[in-house]
Amino acid sequence: MAGEVVSVNPARSGDVVATRRAATESDIDAAVQRAAAAQRSWAGMPIPARAEVIAACGELLAQRKAELSAFVSREAGKVIVEAAGDVQEAIDMAAFVAGQGRAAWGETVPCEMPDKLAFTTRHPVGVVGMITPWNFPVAIPSWKTLPALLAGNGMVIKPSEHAPACCEAFADACRDAGVPADLIQVVHGHGDAGAALTVHPAVRAVSFTGSVPTGRAVAAAAMQHGPKLVSLELGGKNAMVVMADADLDLVVDGALFGAFGTAGQRCTSTSRLIVHRAVHDAVVERVRSRAEQLVLGDPADPSTDVGPVIDLRSRDRIDAMVRAARDEGARVAAGGAPVEIASCPGGAFYAPTILTDVRRGHRIARDEVFGPVLSVIAVDGFDEAIDTVNDCAYGLSAAIYTRDVNDAIRATQRIDTGIVYVNAPTIGAEIQLPFGGTKHTGNGYREAGRRGLEQFSETKTIYIDYSGRLQRAQIDNRPPITAAT
Ligand code: NAD
Repeated sequence: MAGEVVSVNPARSGDVVATRRAATESDIDAAVQRAAAAQRSWAGMPIPARAEVIAACGELLAQRKAELSAFVSREAGKVIVEAAGDVQEAIDMAAFVAGQGRAAWGETVPCEMPDKLAFTTRHPVGVVGMITPWNFPVAIPSWKTLPALLAGNGMVIKPSEHAPACCEAFADACRDAGVPADLIQVVHGHGDAGAALTVHPAVRAVSFTGSVPTGRAVAAAAMQHGPKLVSLELGGKNAMVVMADADLDLVVDGALFGAFGTAGQRCTSTSRLIVHRAVHDAVVERVRSRAEQLVLGDPADPSTDVGPVIDLRSRDRIDAMVRAARDEGARVAAGGAPVEIASCPGGAFYAPTILTDVRRGHRIARDEVFGPVLSVIAVDGFDEAIDTVNDCAYGLSAAIYTRDVNDAIRATQRIDTGIVYVNAPTIGAEIQLPFGGTKHTGNGYREAGRRGLEQFSETKTIYIDYSGRLQRAQIDNRPPITAAT
């Protein structure tokens, strides 16, 4: 597990952003022990008092927003406006979570017997191991850390090897705002560091966001060394349906933002455009002509529309997927190749790409690309469109564009994903609602919203009988069993 983690500006291979020593097993053990010791007194604070510290985190993040955004842009390659959105998610999350500190925290229900109370309380799990990807290097650590703090936990975060410094900057802001220094630990490393954190005996819960294969490995290891609470937020293969009656201006804007925003590297990026044949050619032509006008380049330059992908390896992987799609019969309507940008030497740029003639069975229609590639699939009607959306191993986000209110509502009910948009692209979730997906996208947990607290707390069910006598649930005051006639 020795070695280093080196993050490099995806737009310029010569710009090393951060170098960190990779944590050894004993470093991870020490980090877990420090977090566990700090957690004991943090858990003793009243929840509204913890919430006040979290509110202060949000205020400090807001003060540091410009500086943090520039850093996200440099380390993760996001265009500056989207980097600012990444930081804003953390600020919004702090405001939401802080509010939850004075909101309902358990359930109180009627009891079936007299003089008896029944209710639940929530309790911290202890130390949470958090393993995060690089594509939302501030937002995703905040989605995990802030609710976990409110629930009274300590945490050890293993951020992506591509974005170690963004996560540190987030953790520093939390500590500067008043979170006890040892409560949030950040350890660096590659997969082996994440694996060591997952199996640590004092880590009761693991909150993982990343790809499906890694998620499977994390869950298997956590169960073998537990069982532990494991929440998985994994990949997507998100589809946008365009019906014949859709507002095509809206469709073009939504498809471009959904497919090429964050260079297609959101878990919710639009990867499949499922278009009614009646408007297929018009939609393809309009999206193609706008895609070719997108400015590719330095993500720090406010006039850039699309930045780089995370590294040259990822660029080459995307290119290989596009080539394989062509071999299967897809046609390149736009892009389809790496791009060199003179002002960004060694940058990992890939042209916004549109593939047509894609069919449901093609690999490009089934596998997550995680890059700026939009596959267009023609369909003949509503039922075929919905079946095509659902013919997919993933279930994160989907969208339908239509003016027919009945089709719109039907789609929200029949599409098998965790998030459905009507007349809006597949990206753009707000933090006050649950976020997550069905099928291979996750294991049923949700982040954000009120449900976001569930993975970080244990529920205790409490019965208080003040009748002064034995009362037997399901037995006393019940009619006797009579034989069926
Ligand atoms: P990844 O799976 O390669 O890595 C994620 C994290 O896991 C990294 O920190 C990595 O070091 C660590 N890791 C690798 N092997 C490990 C192991 N064996 N045990 C423990 N940790 C290990 O993912 P990535 O490339 O960083 O991120 C892209 C993926 O994340 C995409 O599939 C994307 O869809 C997904 N994602 C999902 C969501 C969501 O909320 N559903 C959000 C963002 C990204």
